[in-house]
Amino acid sequence: MNILVTGGAGFIGSNFIHYLLKNYDDQVLNIDKLTYAGNLDNLKEVSDSDNYKFYEGDIRDKKLITKIFDSSIDYVVNFAAETHVDRSIEKPNQFIKTNIEGTQVLLNRALECDIKNFVQISTDEVYGSLGKRGKFSETNKLNPTNPYAASKASADLITKSYYKTFELPVNITRSSNNFGPYQFPEKLIPLFITNILQGKKLPLYGNGKNVRDWIFVKENCKAIDLIMRKGNKGEVYNIGANCEKSNLELTKIILKIMNKSESFIKFVEDRPGHDYRYALDNTKIKKELGWNSKISFYQCLTKTIEWYKRNKDWWEKLI
Ligand code: NAD
Repeated sequence: MNILVTGGAGFIGSNFIHYLLKNYDDQVLNIDKLTYAGNLDNLKEVSDSDNYKFYEGDIRDKKLITKIFDSSIDYVVNFAAETHVDRSIEKPNQFIKTNIEGTQVLLNRALECDIKNFVQISTDEVYGSLGKRGKFSETNKLNPTNPYAASKASADLITKSYYKTFELPVNITRSSNNFGPYQFPEKLIPLFITNILQGKKLPLYGNGKNVRDWIFVKENCKAIDLIMRKGNKGEVYNIGANCEKSNLELTKIILKIMNKSESFIKFVEDRPGHDYRYALDNTKIKKELGWNSKISFYQCLTKTIEWYKRNKDWWEKLI
C-alpha cells in the first residue's frame, strides 16, 4: 500500500510514520511544510529507508499535491495543521489557510484518484467545552470556541460533505490531548518537563482547574492505523483513553515524577475563552473496531519524561 501522510514531520505525524514503518511493509510518503513545528530530526532514523519518501511543501500547493498523488496513493492521513490554540488567538489567518483550504486541496485531488480511504485527523476541541459532567460522543454538535478549533471543525464538515456528496471514502478521528516523544515544547507536558530541566517555573493558566483528557501518542497512532484500514466509511471516531486530569493535577504529577517541589508552579493570567473541560466517550471505536487503550498513564508519562531527559539535543535547539 502507498500511504500519504501529511504533516509527518510534526509530533503525531512522525510518531505515526515510525509506527507504520515498524509494523508494515507499506510505502510511506510524507509531505510537510516544515513550519516551526515540523522537524526532520523526528524522522532521522528512517530518512534513508527504501519505504519512505519526504516532500517538502505546502498541502495547499495543488501542483505538488497532484504530483505526489501520481504515485497511486491508497490512503491519505491528513495531520498537517497549525495546532497551537494560543497562536490561533494571536494570528488566526494561517489556521484558516492550512487547516481549511489545505484540507480541501487534498480532498479535491483524492476525488480524482482511486483512493481506499482519506483520514482527516481532527480533535476533541471541535466539540467545545463541557461542564463538570458528561462526555462528548460523535453525535454531539460541534461548538468550537477558538480559531484553531473552529478551523478544525470546518475541515471536518468539508470532509464529511465530500463523503455525502461525492462518495469519497473518508473517516474523521477526534482524539483527546496527546503526549509523548517529539512534541514541540510549547504544549503543556513538554513545556513543563523542559522548564523543570532548565530550572524554570511552570506557567499555569488561571486556577489550573481546566480538565483535559490525555492519551499516549502511540495509542492514538494504533487507533488511527486501525481506522485507516478498517473504519466504516463516512464515520467519525473519538479516540480517548478515559484519562481526565486537571492541569494542576497533571502538573503536580510531573513534579512528583521529577522529584521537584510545587514551588515551581506559577499561576498566570488565563487564556481568553479557555475551555473548561474536554472528555471523550470512546464506546464507538471500541464496539465497531475493537480498539481499547491499554497502557498506564503514569508509566507513559514517566517514559515521556525520560525521553526528554535523554534527548536534550532534540529540544534545546527549539527553545
Ligand atoms: P504539530 O504542530 O506537531 O505538527 C503539524 C505539522 O504540520 C508540522 O510538521 C508542520 O510543519 C506541518 N504543517 C503545517 N502547515 C502545513 C502545510 N500548510 N503544509 C504541509 N505541512 C504543514 O501537530 P500535532 O500535535 O502533531 O497534530 C497533528 C494533527 O493532530 C493536527 O491536525 C491536530 O489538529 C491533531 N490533533 C492533535 C492533538 C494533540 O494533542 N497534539 C490532539 C488532537 C488532534
